Amino acid sequence: MCDSDDVMEISVPMDTDNCERYVDVIIVGAGLSGLTAAYHINKTDPGTSLCVLEANDRVGGRTLTVPLKTKNGTTDDFDLGGHWVGRSQTAIMELLDELGLETYTQRIDGTYLLQIGGDKITSYSSDTPSLPFLSLLDLKMFNNKIEKFRKTIDPAHPYECPNGEEWDKTSLETFLNQHLWTKAAKEYMRVIIRALSSMEPSQQSVLSLMASIAGSGGLEPMLEVTEDSAQGLKVKGGTQQISKILVDKVGSDRVLLNQLVERIVQNDNKVIVSCRNGLKVTGRRLILATPPAAVDKITFEPTLPVERREINKRYNFGDYIKTIVTYGEDFWTKKGLVGEVETSGGPSDVPGCDNGPITVTMDAMSHTGSPALVIFTAGKQARQWGQQQVDVRRNAVLQSLSTYFGKEALSPLDYCEKDWSKEEYIGGALASLGTGAMQYFEEGIGGNFMRVHFAGRETAVEWDGNMCGAVETGKRTALEVLEVLQ
Ligand SMILES: Cc1cc2nc3c(=O)[nH]c(=O)nc-3n(C[C@H](O)[C@H](O)[C@H](O)COP(=O)(O)OP(=O)(O)OC[C@H]3O[C@@H](n4cnc5c(N)ncnc54)[C@H](O)[C@@H]3O)c2cc1C
Repeated sequence: MCDSDDVMEISVPMDTDNCERYVDVIIVGAGLSGLTAAYHINKTDPGTSLCVLEANDRVGGRTLTVPLKTKNGTTDDFDLGGHWVGRSQTAIMELLDELGLETYTQRIDGTYLLQIGGDKITSYSSDTPSLPFLSLLDLKMFNNKIEKFRKTIDPAHPYECPNGEEWDKTSLETFLNQHLWTKAAKEYMRVIIRALSSMEPSQQSVLSLMASIAGSGGLEPMLEVTEDSAQGLKVKGGTQQISKILVDKVGSDRVLLNQLVERIVQNDNKVIVSCRNGLKVTGRRLILATPPAAVDKITFEPTLPVERREINKRYNFGDYIKTIVTYGEDFWTKKGLVGEVETSGGPSDVPGCDNGPITVTMDAMSHTGSPALVIFTAGKQARQWGQQQVDVRRNAVLQSLSTYFGKEALSPLDYCEKDWSKEEYIGGALASLGTGAMQYFEEGIGGNFMRVHFAGRETAVEWDGNMCGAVETGKRTALEVLEVLQ
């Protein structure tokens, strides 16, 4: 049946057969991007048959919400993956509104802590980090340059900017050394980049980060904690429920879990997908909403154009261990602290770990008022600490928290961590392009190759590092596919 060449002209109903299915649109990946695509297709044209194939045994991809013990013997939901949103992130805010999900604000009142380089901890309560005066001046000039540079970039065509070729060849580490003069400012920016992108500055090209900054409206909106920026709002009940609600809207019988897509064969009339466990699905169009590392593992017939193969190979996946620790009370607030620390990790006495296990912490109080802290271990720190036993890591995280916030940190109610580099089907936390990759960007990312349309956060033009980018690409590909089907 799969060899039939007449698929294009008919609307293909879903077959009940377990091993072979026929639909109009196949969507691979049940993260935010794939499920948003399914939702928009279903909403715009309910007559279009579709099926979502997900390798994992759950939906949500890089969003994951877990229940943790909280005060008074109850539990509350906390995010171990995608977490914050902001009003300027239009695509995700519109979707939250449509799905009836509410947001609440990130707490920011109090004093921030900073530990750059050695073990000294300093504090500040303005927008200006507690660095030496010369380093602040250095950072100010650096930020001005970034602001000037990012305005030269069209995020849809980054390689075409005046410095495109040069910045594609240059690593961020080289760029920091070229444009910053003081040791503390360089180390501070390394911590910020590690926390923001889950990888070291040496792993990404200048153009890759600069394009992200351009697509997010500047560095400040990416870093600030205001309602308009990327860290100002949280979703009541957690972000994974976005995907769960989308499944309800699309129909749970159309979202098939434990279906690892291994092969995609297409011709002028149809596209056929083969999953590891034997399921075959034939469709008229396919939306591939998987991360680049996953695309690289799928066999394509005919093979993908060289630009797409090159770019998928050149994405570096970063490392995040994200941890939530719940407490009986928010003792940090009572001490006048926001709960936020930016740190190179401080000293470590664990063999194999150059620094302590924390890159950044923030207050993670739930919307019902359950106190919690969220901890990111990022980049090289995540790789080194990821090799330790859970109890060694837990002990080190709690010890570090106690040096920042006091000995109460040693007595949590619950502790839960997720090492995203161990996610088999995703391949890591966030992906960025290494040097020499952006030359393939325009031809290699987004758009379509024959009947396959490329979605997923990495193909986004705006807010490409965020859930917003994933939602935007889901909507974009849904419209592309509906247009050609009609
Ligand atoms: C720790 C962490 C914190 C983050 N914090 C934030 C934040 O605060 N704010 C924010 O906006 N964003 C944040 N993000 C980023 C955000 O979560 C992602 O950008 C977004 O969820 C990506 O969605 P996606 O659908 O593009 O990809 P994914 O969520 O990765 O979904 C892809 C899906 O494809 C599946 N798949 C892969 N290969 C195959 C295959 N061969 N066959 C079938 N299925 C396959 C995967 O299992 C996965 O479910 C964070 C991410 C992480 C990891």
